[in-house]
Amino acid sequence: MNRPTIAIATLGGTLSMQRGEPGEGITPSLGGAELLASVPELGALAHIRIKSLSLLPSASVNFDFLLQVLEWANDQITLGAQGVVITQGTDTLEESATFFEYLWPHDTPLVLTGAMRSASEASADGPGNLLDACRVALSASSKGRGVLVVMNGEIHASLSVRKTHTLALNAFTSATGGPVGLMIEHTPRFLHPGAPRMTLPIPSCTTHKVALLEASLSADTLILEQLVEMGYQGLVIAGFGAGHVSEKWSIALQAIAINLPVIVGSRTGAGTTAFHTYGFTGGEIDLIRKGLHLSGFLCPRKARLLLWLVIGCGQQSKLNDFLAYGQGCQTS
Ligand code: ASP
Repeated sequence: MNRPTIAIATLGGTLSMQRGEPGEGITPSLGGAELLASVPELGALAHIRIKSLSLLPSASVNFDFLLQVLEWANDQITLGAQGVVITQGTDTLEESATFFEYLWPHDTPLVLTGAMRSASEASADGPGNLLDACRVALSASSKGRGVLVVMNGEIHASLSVRKTHTLALNAFTSATGGPVGLMIEHTPRFLHPGAPRMTLPIPSCTTHKVALLEASLSADTLILEQLVEMGYQGLVIAGFGAGHVSEKWSIALQAIAINLPVIVGSRTGAGTTAFHTYGFTGGEIDLIRKGLHLSGFLCPRKARLLLWLVIGCGQQSKLNDFLAYGQGCQTS
């Protein structure tokens, strides 16, 4: 029987970690071949092409590296892979998935997974997650759905999934709308239809900086006052509630928005920003009038990635379209 080809890249993270000496902490050390050996079922599923691209804890992944990973993934499609899977650390997995979502033009799915327990633990979840990720990547029902995150028997859309627990096995959740699918008897079952997708070209500039700041009670405006001079080209605020800031911040942000795109999202972790409900200074109506963008369902850290990408490809004029696309992805 002709088995499909699946391409897997490993970047590091807990899935690749094990303990060295007793008493020492776990560190990334398992490359592709060792990971493959831990999932013997994969051989029956597909012909596997596996590549260790790094052994990084995911806090140290950066945009330039993600662009290299994307180049590798695009090459795999050209070489005929029917599915592409990337394993990485869970700490920043939601951000990598979002980054790739905006840049992945193919119908063939790109699936990200990781592990909450290292290979040294008796109940390691890495091998099961990798196997599920491959099943999702090869499923015809995953086609056209862009970038998916598979963890703990659940399939999540990249724009809604977040790591919402430090250590639990079920650390990944999509607070608004839930997972888009589940693994049922080893088969991916999608609960919602796919939505039309929008992607950006590969950014031609990668040196610009976009800041992410969180609104907090009685916060001063010192950093805001210096942000433009510091050389930032964009700003995202994790605002209070439905996308709000204090009166002082509203004034400071208005001054910044004359020079830079500013997006305000919500620091709450679930739900959408409002657009036409609150009328106080610092509320969303005031911020929109002052030229700021509200991020809707897109959480601030994902909005920062979008802003960085649109600036990098010179497509700032499409920012609102992409923010609206984030809305659609949550509801379909
Ligand atoms: N706890 C993390 C993980 O799951 C460490 C990292 O993000 O690399 O991989």
